[in-house]
Amino acid sequence: MRVNKNFDNLVPNYLFAEVAKRTNDYIEKNPDKKVIKLGIGDVTLPLAPVVVEAMKQGAEELGIKESFKGYPDYEGYEFVRKAIADYYAGFGVEISPDEILVNDGAKSDSGNIGDIFAQDNTVMVTDPVYPVYVDSNIMAGRKIVYADSNAENGFAALPPKDVKADIIYLCSPNNPTGSAYTFDQLRQWIDYANDNDAIIIYDAAYEAFITDSDCPRSIFALDGARTCAIELCSLSKTAGFTGTRCGYTIIPKELERDGHNIYKLWYRREATKFNGVSWPVQRAAAAVFSEEGQRQIRQNLDYYKENARIIASALDELGIYYTGGKNSPYIWLRCPNGMGSWEFFDFLLENANVVGTPGEGFGSNGKGYFRLTSFGDRENTVEAVERIKKLLK
Ligand code: PLP
Repeated sequence: MRVNKNFDNLVPNYLFAEVAKRTNDYIEKNPDKKVIKLGIGDVTLPLAPVVVEAMKQGAEELGIKESFKGYPDYEGYEFVRKAIADYYAGFGVEISPDEILVNDGAKSDSGNIGDIFAQDNTVMVTDPVYPVYVDSNIMAGRKIVYADSNAENGFAALPPKDVKADIIYLCSPNNPTGSAYTFDQLRQWIDYANDNDAIIIYDAAYEAFITDSDCPRSIFALDGARTCAIELCSLSKTAGFTGTRCGYTIIPKELERDGHNIYKLWYRREATKFNGVSWPVQRAAAAVFSEEGQRQIRQNLDYYKENARIIASALDELGIYYTGGKNSPYIWLRCPNGMGSWEFFDFLLENANVVGTPGEGFGSNGKGYFRLTSFGDRENTVEAVERIKKLLK
């Protein structure tokens, strides 16, 4: 018996464990201090009332013989897929419900989509990066190459010349850098993918935070994407579903590679390894896309966006370089006075009692950078920002 030795190639990810350890040590030694956490990537506001109501109704329906549901369809109920397609149509992107597969969140599909691709494909990710794209491909034994995100390109990597890749993971708005691709930038990636016979796995988990009209909400807003892209999306940040679990993947029916239809391959994979999303959760997901659902989730999104604006405007005042904060819940800043990521982490914790996330945990281009998030509550965000301003002025 042998195990998958590719796991030996994973780099231990100490980032969040180390953040928690240093924070807890500090709190233990300084019990009188109020520590504010702006490092969290989880939402804090509750589900919208219409969503809760739909989930309750869904649960009740399961308790009645006439409306009981057993195994759901692998790809999700049609009324949910139709609601998602209508949502896309609302910002001018035409997707058929038949191209949507409902799932239990974007992490599962971003980690599992590699099942349908050969092991000898070369994968390209941006650096810094959401670690799932890297680790899932290391587990599969694939070669990984990097596209640099840095201050020169506003932490929105563009296709490197002369480097060929077969599978490209893009995330816009980006975790961790908060940058969002413009139409012009994304066009370059689409052209690159079509020219190289590559596929883009486009993670749009934060699309609902986009306000700039020159940043697409979906890769399918651009011509040429239907022949090279798969889009992943999630209700986690859009509607507070981090604990409820629901997302969706879009695969255009005409997407083909290596003589195979990609939707059909993924459907076959899902039919083998996935048994769908529960009825109450799909009822709740559909409620997100109702008119009232959209109005209610907007209130939460606006709350987080205002937190982001408050953090970003403090950095403007301090003259600190950053990306994000506008079309994204993340603010990615250059550590002041040439400090390293962990050095700044300790400095901020000890002197302002504020916790963030060291950028180097997301890749080598994150060295000297730091991530703050807008998912905290308003009062704490305002207080943290005041402390940061006082410290760094
Ligand atoms: N994709 C990105 C870029 C994320 O940042 C996250 C969560 O932080 C996810 C996917 C996971 O989403 P889900 O909760 O839908 O699994």
